[in-house]
Amino acid sequence: MSLAQPEKELSVFESMAARFDVAARKLNLDDGVTRYLRTSNREILVHFPVIMDNGKLEVFDGYRVQHSIARGPCKGGLRYSPHVTLDEIRGLAAEMTWKCAVVNIPFGGAKGGVVCDPSKLSMGELERITRRYTAEILDYIGPERDVPAPDMNTNEQTMAWIMDTYSMNVRHTVTASVTGKPLDLGGSAGRREATGRGCMIAADQALKRFGWRPEATRVIVQGLGNVGSQAARLMHESGYKIIGVGDITGGVFNTSGINIPRLLDYVGQYKTLEGYEGGDNIGAQEILEQDCEVLLPAATESVITSKNAHKVKAHLLVEGANSPTTPPADDILFERGVFVIPDILANAGGVTVSYFEWVQDRQGYFWSEATINDRLKQIMVSAFDGVVSFSEKHKVNNRIAAYMLAIDRVAITLKLRGIYA
Ligand code: GLU
Repeated sequence: MSLAQPEKELSVFESMAARFDVAARKLNLDDGVTRYLRTSNREILVHFPVIMDNGKLEVFDGYRVQHSIARGPCKGGLRYSPHVTLDEIRGLAAEMTWKCAVVNIPFGGAKGGVVCDPSKLSMGELERITRRYTAEILDYIGPERDVPAPDMNTNEQTMAWIMDTYSMNVRHTVTASVTGKPLDLGGSAGRREATGRGCMIAADQALKRFGWRPEATRVIVQGLGNVGSQAARLMHESGYKIIGVGDITGGVFNTSGINIPRLLDYVGQYKTLEGYEGGDNIGAQEILEQDCEVLLPAATESVITSKNAHKVKAHLLVEGANSPTTPPADDILFERGVFVIPDILANAGGVTVSYFEWVQDRQGYFWSEATINDRLKQIMVSAFDGVVSFSEKHKVNNRIAAYMLAIDRVAITLKLRGIYA
């Protein structure tokens, strides 16, 4: 079955829904359950005021979409970007439900976003935006309700402000109200690296299947935010040959391998890849089309579409970002035999260690980094094996297999719980 739409590429929600529909049909899911699980449970839109550094009052739009609480409290990141839309947050919230179910952790899915341009905001403004947004959605979040985490353009500091705002309002410190916090504030060892590490573990598993060695595996990483930079660093350390790295300012390409620690130091200092001398300069889009074994898009959504999917030369696609590939591109990659590790599996290491953080905060007892990395590996390996065997059993691509596995798990919980009336 082809999902291709010749004229129009799909939005994030449409992409999620197209894949959901295929998986639901393959599972013979009941019509009513299909309609229910395709829809968000709750969509919150807030317009809130913030006093800017120049003394003027500005009004911001914020969203929190809670897709499902069938398997546990909602879980999912909060992103800051001028491009945030309800459609995007709605699609990503549903993806969080499927992601948590793929790795079999006891959460539902949610996502939040504030329409703003963090590159133009001071720390003070970011703090006031974060605190007021948190106050606006306060009744709907909390350790048992919905637990935010970092996502695009938010970080440990953002989570510290959310945790503090929540705690001040409920009059006691609730570290389990968010994850991805600083280590000194109930954060977890290994959380910062977790998404990148999870991508590497998934890639390692694929390499085992193909009989490849990391040393002979050329990797291109697109995106140098938390996910891309940690994945590049960890994969470089474990012997992979990183030959290309790109971000919004462009890319660096070097067939003899890039010195990743040096490149990351440079980007840390100058906040751009421009001017880095350790390879040839290459365009941000072209980097996706270079010859390599592994392509790891870790920047943003819809970068691989029907327009460039046939130019992707990688044999293995590891989706570090959420929704980097559109459904029409899925079809092209599948026909061309590219082995895709879909986002809801490849980047699930982040939410898995978020789960560990939430457990540790609730226990008030913290685990060593070795224990965390060990448990993360166990979960990622078993999810990888689960998705690949589902794909072989049902003769579908890995993405549809991951959706089927996840939807089936959520549907089983729904059936056991019944519908409250
Ligand atoms: N924002 C991350 C994601 O999309 C992490 C979510 C979390 O840890 O709750 O998976």
